[in-house]
Amino acid sequence: MAKKNTSKEQTHLEGERAQVASELENLRSAMLNEVDVEPDEGDAEIFEREKTAALIAVLERRMQDIEHALRAIDKGHYGTCERCSNPIEPERLEVKPDAILCLNCQREVEAISKRNRGRAPIRW
Ligand SMILES: [Zn+2]
Repeated sequence: MAKKNTSKEQTHLEGERAQVASELENLRSAMLNEVDVEPDEGDAEIFEREKTAALIAVLERRMQDIEHALRAIDKGHYGTCERCSNPIEPERLEVKPDAILCLNCQREVEAISKRNRGRAPIRW
């Protein structure tokens, strides 16, 4: 099997997955503990909970990307853009080992999602 090129990324990704998983666990148990909020604490507590929830969402997304990249390594198409099938820039994988899109596609996708966000503004 000619998989030696990806073993470094795989190790990296698995380490990252373990880290994200434990962070998620901490945050989720923090959320559960915060259920018994003193009524007086009101808005500040709610704000903290929203921040925690937002962080959990970010980490969950990150977890999906990592899992995705690990599956790609398994299938042997790691480093190939999922959108245009061109190879992903090695420098990009160096910085972001869970990248599944080449830089071009990433920019396009981000531009599209930014436009979509513009239509339905999120109020923080
Ligand atoms: Zn691409």
